[in-house]
Amino acid sequence: MAVRSQQDAYFDKLETMSAEDRQEYLNKKLAEKISYSYEHAPAVKTLLDKAGVKPKDIRTVKDLEKLPITRKTDLLEMQKANLPFGGVLAMPQEDVERVFISPGPIYEIQPSSCQWFAKSFWAAGFKKGDVAINTFTYHMSPAGFLFHEGLRECGATVVVAGTGNTDLQVQIMRELKVTGFVGTPSFLNTIIKRAEELGQNVKKDLFIKRAWFTGEMLPPSLRKLFEEQYDIDTYQAYAVTEPGGAIAYECKHKSGMHLMDEYVTEIVDPETGKQLGPGETGEIVATQLLNKNWGLIRFGTGDLSSYTAEPCPCGRTASRITGILGREGDAVKVRGMFIVGKQAEQTIMSFSQVARYQLVVGQKDHRDEMVLKLELKDSSVDQNKLSLDINNKFQDICRIKIDKVEVVPDGTIGEKGQGIKDVRKWE
Ligand SMILES: [Zn+2]
Repeated sequence: MAVRSQQDAYFDKLETMSAEDRQEYLNKKLAEKISYSYEHAPAVKTLLDKAGVKPKDIRTVKDLEKLPITRKTDLLEMQKANLPFGGVLAMPQEDVERVFISPGPIYEIQPSSCQWFAKSFWAAGFKKGDVAINTFTYHMSPAGFLFHEGLRECGATVVVAGTGNTDLQVQIMRELKVTGFVGTPSFLNTIIKRAEELGQNVKKDLFIKRAWFTGEMLPPSLRKLFEEQYDIDTYQAYAVTEPGGAIAYECKHKSGMHLMDEYVTEIVDPETGKQLGPGETGEIVATQLLNKNWGLIRFGTGDLSSYTAEPCPCGRTASRITGILGREGDAVKVRGMFIVGKQAEQTIMSFSQVARYQLVVGQKDHRDEMVLKLELKDSSVDQNKLSLDINNKFQDICRIKIDKVEVVPDGTIGEKGQGIKDVRKWE
């Protein structure tokens, strides 16, 4: 196993490619992947034939728009109709080393190389000398194995812990002098709380320096707690198992997650499949490039995000996704922009004067119109200023302007009325 020099800041040369080189690289790998999959994975042949597209028609990332998106439900149906892999496998079945099972059940194979996971651990500072506790399950799901191998690729020693057994995890972490945690933020929080209940001083009795999270978003308040109160440097990664693993990861600047060049990652309008530009909210759609044995093209994750192509001070040149803003079903489209329920809620409720809100999406003269109704805790506040402040923040974060803000009497909205209410009629 090749362990990189401990001084290397980057995992590989791909991380610092110029924009032109990246475009060329992704286009080339994509064309190779499509033509190989078309030959070897029956599902990909069906996909292209149905769309009337020849492999040679997919030369660039933009060309992917010619193909439909395959979602989890589609994959499940494909597999049920053609067990076990639904025609996605592009290798002889007897050569498959490991089969993983995701909820569904959906059957997946171990990617031929797990190097790209290592990239996210490397950016989080995992190196030889680290003792990393892997609290993801090694049963059924690929998480345990894949993260394990990624950590090994960076040179770290891996403690095969899996999920659960909080008391035992605390003991293991102390006795093995574990320096790195790999798991979900909520589980690390549980472990820390339990350690304190058991009378331990987390900073003195445990040795944990860094934590790598995926599977859940890390709330800023929890990140602050881990970093400021316990001196644990925290990193997040975005991973989806169906197309084969990790897709984006944080660097030490922790301002969005860099996209991995082992995938073509698109942010698309979930209804049309068209690619969106920087700052626009859409669904994350991933095509894994390097595992030629798994022909899953344009996998729709159902997660909503946006991306920025602004340079990052870390020197990595890949675009960054700005975190997961919600799930596809949780969004409404207003004047061509997706508004994610959770994001709208966080934005509006960050104003402490607001007791309840309802965002009504209607139509006026064939144009979508948004009216924000507010119940206030104290109606004596400067309502004009508050309305303006909320609208400005909403526009910054959700990238669309509210047409009108109305303060309504208490009880108008009611407990069940809070949220986005779409009253448009599609006739
Ligand atoms: Zn960076």
